[in-house]
Amino acid sequence: MAAKHAWPLRPLPAQAEALPEATGEHWVASTCLQCPAGCAILVRVVNGRAVKIEGNPASPNNRGRICPKGQAGLQFLYDPDRIKGPLIQRGKRGSDDWEMVSWEEAISYVAEKLAEIREKDGPHTVIFMNGRNRGVMHHHMGVFFKAYGTPNDVGHGSICEDARPIAHKLTTGWSHYSGYDWENTAYVLSFGGSLLEAWRPTTHNLQMWGVMRRGHPGRRTKIVQIDPRFSVTAAKADEWLPIRPGTDGALAMAIAHVIIQEGLYDEKFVAEHTFGFEDWTDEQGVRHMGFKTLALQEKYSPEQVAQITGISAQTIVRIAREFATHRPALAAGCRGSSMQTNGVYNSMAIHALNALVGSIDQPGGTMIQHDPPCTPWPEPELDEVARQGLAMPRIDYAKTRRHPLGGKAYQDVPDQILAADPYKINAIFFYYTNPVFSMPDVNRAYQAFEKVPFLVSFSPFMDETTALCDVVLPDHTYLERWHDDIIYP
Ligand code: SF4
Repeated sequence: MAAKHAWPLRPLPAQAEALPEATGEHWVASTCLQCPAGCAILVRVVNGRAVKIEGNPASPNNRGRICPKGQAGLQFLYDPDRIKGPLIQRGKRGSDDWEMVSWEEAISYVAEKLAEIREKDGPHTVIFMNGRNRGVMHHHMGVFFKAYGTPNDVGHGSICEDARPIAHKLTTGWSHYSGYDWENTAYVLSFGGSLLEAWRPTTHNLQMWGVMRRGHPGRRTKIVQIDPRFSVTAAKADEWLPIRPGTDGALAMAIAHVIIQEGLYDEKFVAEHTFGFEDWTDEQGVRHMGFKTLALQEKYSPEQVAQITGISAQTIVRIAREFATHRPALAAGCRGSSMQTNGVYNSMAIHALNALVGSIDQPGGTMIQHDPPCTPWPEPELDEVARQGLAMPRIDYAKTRRHPLGGKAYQDVPDQILAADPYKINAIFFYYTNPVFSMPDVNRAYQAFEKVPFLVSFSPFMDETTALCDVVLPDHTYLERWHDDIIYP
């Protein structure tokens, strides 16, 4: 690419001076990236080698604690099976006939392929499939593929938790995960949130569980776990409601039905902070059904919803009354309810409960999270080829009538490749993702990737997808690279 960029980035000199050998002991502040929680860590370094990881007590989030996986970061760093340099597949794909080459050779090889594809079929025929590419890495990768000219920056969020930010956008106008004021709440309705197992930020949530149990003498927060399985969180909760998978939204609507019918909702909050509770007429004179009418429909009565969810009508009524009268209360939906085909609707219904009891952006309720006001990275200058490539439809049809709300549809990529719809794909780059292991239909993913002429992985490990690739450009681990990150409570 010949585009000129006015980026405030300084290239390293070709022959960087050798760093003096580090001696002695010191602690380096960093961030654990073994899961999305991003706990703040301190790494003890002795004679230039990381030897111990601890939680950083200065963090208001994990407050000096980390989980066993965070402790095991050193095993990740020193894993003898790590890929230690760039690899090019010299035999048949999947034959394990790798040759380790220099970075110069590997980069030239990939650059030539990219230039050839760009020239011949267009840059849009390249896909960048990615997982947890956060912070500055997310930006750098995004800018590179944008400058190259592909619209196919396909993150994994659609098979993860995108439903929740979308639901928040549709109900409250901001697109992010909620924070929760666990410390000050009196009642928790957890819809599939594994507070004690894997709900980010895990170490924060684990500590908050203790606060809810013993942090307020004379007051114990009631925790109701709504979960199809008897999870660790369900076992430790005050009450477990075993629900049919994917029916959380129906349950939330039935709880709303009872709260509204019995006049238990926070009328002041609803009147002052919501729109569309009552039926309303728009500027064109068209009548719209409000949330109250919607929730009071017979199909959301406890008796009807009991048939859908498997939770008895009596239990639904009791839980609704408890939730509405033990303030501040919060309803929290996590992966169990949002990672469903109806995840957006589940999440909208759950979040509506917070509005009914006046718990949005209030003490003891949910918290609206905002990105910190970082200076935005500069946009790349685009040449004509990039402009044309970016104007092409995305391979996953995200943000079209097929997926009007989703910014990406990761799970659709294999089918689209196999159908060559809307065009044939020439290359895929995989970063922090292993779709041959984690796609809903891994066989389909395998078949699709086999058809793509050029596959590149950035993984530092020979995972299932990397084993299929033509080139491996192994990334550093999080303990080795410069990286910023934004962590949310
Ligand atoms: S919970 Fe924190 S310490 Fe544990 S893996 Fe996740 S980021 Fe690392």
